[in-house]
Amino acid sequence: MHPKIQAMIDRYGITDAARAFLEEEHQLYIDGAFVEAAAKGRVPVFEPSTGETLTSIAAAGKEDVDRAVAAANRALEDGDWAAMKPRDRQRVLLRLADLIEEQAQTLGEIESLDNGKALGPCIEMDILGGAELLRYMAGFATKIAGATREVSAPGCHFASTRKEPIGVVAAIVPWNWPFNMALWKIAAPLAAGCTIVLKPAEQTSLSMLYFMKLCERAGLPKGVLNLVTGSGRVIGDLLVGHPGVSKVSFTGSTEVGRRVGATAGRALTPVTLELGGKSPMLVFADADLDAVAASTRWSVFFNAGQVCSAGSRIYAHRSVFEDLVAKIKQVAEAMVMAPGLDPVCDIGPVISAHARAAIASHIGKGVADGARLVCGGDDMSGEGFFVKPTVLTTDDNRLAVVQEEIFGPVVVVLPFDEEAQALALANDNQYGLAASIWTRDISRALRLVPRIEAGTVWVNAHDLVDSSMPFGGFKDSGFGKDMGPEQLDHFLRTKSLWIAVAQGEE
Ligand code: NAP
Ligand code: MG
Repeated sequence: MHPKIQAMIDRYGITDAARAFLEEEHQLYIDGAFVEAAAKGRVPVFEPSTGETLTSIAAAGKEDVDRAVAAANRALEDGDWAAMKPRDRQRVLLRLADLIEEQAQTLGEIESLDNGKALGPCIEMDILGGAELLRYMAGFATKIAGATREVSAPGCHFASTRKEPIGVVAAIVPWNWPFNMALWKIAAPLAAGCTIVLKPAEQTSLSMLYFMKLCERAGLPKGVLNLVTGSGRVIGDLLVGHPGVSKVSFTGSTEVGRRVGATAGRALTPVTLELGGKSPMLVFADADLDAVAASTRWSVFFNAGQVCSAGSRIYAHRSVFEDLVAKIKQVAEAMVMAPGLDPVCDIGPVISAHARAAIASHIGKGVADGARLVCGGDDMSGEGFFVKPTVLTTDDNRLAVVQEEIFGPVVVVLPFDEEAQALALANDNQYGLAASIWTRDISRALRLVPRIEAGTVWVNAHDLVDSSMPFGGFKDSGFGKDMGPEQLDHFLRTKSLWIAVAQGEE
């Protein structure tokens, strides 16, 4: 660990468990044990507020992927998991949720150091939110049910459907919500009785490595959840196209999602894709502008804007446009940039030097294309990968800065005159993840909801999520849902059962 990170840890303090974990040599977790990667390669892990090296993780290769998929198949077919009653499976998952809660501080600190995010909200949302989802899904373990059917086929039959676990799931997650997204991916298949090979993002694998220790303590049988760390470019295709994998569940960028979809398609493996977004917020003249502006702390700038559903395009009625821009500027300028462990932190660093440079280039291009820079966007060369909350305005919906996902704390505000125009502008985008409508006119909101091309619509709010509400996009934001009862269906296959019933002799 670099001395600068050491000094930061000493300044803010972390739990002994987090300290000890960071000193470990991190390995893969396969078949119920931490194991070395076959090729013994390592990937460095950076702490984003200093830009220095925190630790390293193991780089999995083909042999490791094969081992992990084989372990998952064994656990599915003849291990303790396959034999476990639904009640006991539920118990293990509930125990695991309790352990997450017990270890929330340590998990949050590990996550904050790895990803850069503010510690308080990280514990509250990422970690405890993950425990809540696990509890929600655990409830389904005892409620999986087929149905008996009355059939009209000639003869006499008992006919029913069975819901079976789909098999081994390859789960792949991004770096922006490492722990939380991983739980979004694994809670439902575990409840369904599937087994899993999980690949976290190479930048942020630490919280799930720590989590594997909790799985052991909770009594999750070996082989049920296997963790392969390392580069997606090296093992992504192998895992997604693996003949031993029966379902792929992916969250990440649209670009990589297309590739994952194509690879899964070739293998005829069903796939769920939760991809990028550029979610609009539609602000009408009768909206509570203070509420809209206040929401941007959360809806736009939270997690340094590295949120798939961030409201990064705001369309404001021309009569309130200037007013709203001024209010958002005030909010943006009041946000405190600091390392995630610092209690004053509103906005931490972005994930990497590469991400910061990409965000700077988006902003630069926006300005060169004619957008007006209202605040932020400067001073991006210092230590740590910090980006100031940035507000741009334009009236050109086709600018790249309006159309493309920037994945940083950057919002573009555009004016509109008519409701129909606002709708057309909002829908004029490749993505369809989420949208929000801000108005006091309930009829207007209800008119617009069916016409907005987005998987989630909020009215007078943005970015609410809940374990019971399915989340997932339309258009280039992907297909399939995470969370809610809908997600469970992705991990169950339906078998139709017919039994011919011999008619008794008179
Ligand atoms: P990414 O570059 O697409 O990476 C996502 C994951 O895919 C990582 O684990 C990555 O591994 C892996 N990967 C890379 N190449 C692969 C391949 N050929 N086959 C299989 N997996 C491969 O995305 P990111 O930059 O980490 O995350 C940001 C993106 O995620 C944004 O677009 C954001 O909108 C999206 N996101 C969507 C949702 C949602 O619910 N819709 C939620 C959160 C984030 P490596 O890290 O090793 O490259
Ligand atoms: Mg990191």
